[in-house]
Amino acid sequence: MTPPKRPPQTVTVLGAGIAGAGAARAFAARGCEVKVVAPSGIADGASGVPSAALRPRLWRPTAHAAPDAEILADAFRWTSRWLQDVASRHFRACGVLLCAVDADDEVKVRDRATNPATADVVQWCGAAEASRHAGVELPFGAAWIPTGGCVDLGGLVRELLEDARVTVCSQHITETTDLVVDARARVPNGEVVRGQALGVALGAAAPSAVICTNGYLCPPGEDGLTWLGSTYDRHDERTDERPQDDHRILDRFDALPALAEALQAAPTERRFAAVRASTPQRIALVGFAAPDLAVTLGHGSRGAVTGPWAGELLAAAAFGEPLPATPAHWARLQSRAAQHT
Ligand SMILES: Cc1cc2nc3c(=O)[nH]c(=O)nc-3n(C[C@H](O)[C@H](O)[C@H](O)COP(=O)(O)OP(=O)(O)OC[C@H]3O[C@@H](n4cnc5c(N)ncnc54)[C@H](O)[C@@H]3O)c2cc1C
Repeated sequence: MTPPKRPPQTVTVLGAGIAGAGAARAFAARGCEVKVVAPSGIADGASGVPSAALRPRLWRPTAHAAPDAEILADAFRWTSRWLQDVASRHFRACGVLLCAVDADDEVKVRDRATNPATADVVQWCGAAEASRHAGVELPFGAAWIPTGGCVDLGGLVRELLEDARVTVCSQHITETTDLVVDARARVPNGEVVRGQALGVALGAAAPSAVICTNGYLCPPGEDGLTWLGSTYDRHDERTDERPQDDHRILDRFDALPALAEALQAAPTERRFAAVRASTPQRIALVGFAAPDLAVTLGHGSRGAVTGPWAGELLAAAAFGEPLPATPAHWARLQSRAAQHT
């Protein structure tokens, strides 16, 4: 399925999370009148997460081709540059450290960090240099991603929708539109995964960069809290806050003793729980399912990276402009989207 033959003038976006807001902003920037249908409000789902890490997924250079990680790297490059360009106050370009947790892990992380395919965005650094970037002592080396950072995703969604060409409505519209963009998160045959994040008051002990192990920790933003995430509970759609899950998040930093000690002493201030929608391939479903129907769904655990980029990709394709993805990656995404009904 190909994009529309003529660029759309009117666009209806279903869903007001980061995927919907990213698409709305990209089409509005090209002169389209955009209506966003948001029956339950703006950023009421996973996109309400107070602090999301902006980072690529690294892969080993000697392994088989990793096209979906490569697509995510395309998205990371575009979104991190774009967030700097638009100077969103909801993005902090503090850098990201993907930290090794023991000597064996150091070999694995180093292998990924030195992959030539991502040499433009990631550098390997030893424990001393990693500790300097983090502002806290780290026992092992890390992959350093200087253009990464963290985003108040709900704040960014609201900022993107504040555009003179974008109208947010609470009900479905009956009038005709040139293009519908489905950004309602869920994918048929996809997976739903509950996640909870934790906001703690670390004060002066807070790191100055995003710290990732098998969890992530973001330095304090406007709310003054250090946010840590997150749990990953498949087939659980409930969004109640669960104090009993706190230790499952805190335990993810046990391998970093200085940080773990500070976290044990820090009071918990807030929790955030929501549901992520994923595809079986773990990469978002983005493309045209019909000339008048585009999809940006299943952003899973990486919507801060892929949501804005997917909107740009759809709008650029609809307007026949250069795409923020290689032709092979766009073809791969598009073939999946074409099967979506
Ligand atoms: C605890 C937690 C931590 C996370 N951490 C990170 C992170 O560090 N980095 C990262 O990149 N990502 C992170 N994520 C994932 C990220 O939040 C999601 O990938 C992203 O928010 C998905 O955005 P979305 O717009 O696709 O979906 P959503 O935010 O779920 O938005 C979908 C919208 O569609 C609306 N909708 C549903 N049905 C309809 C309908 N019929 N009509 C109109 N609208 C409808 C919903 O109300 C909702 O507003 C995290 C998620 C969680 C839960």
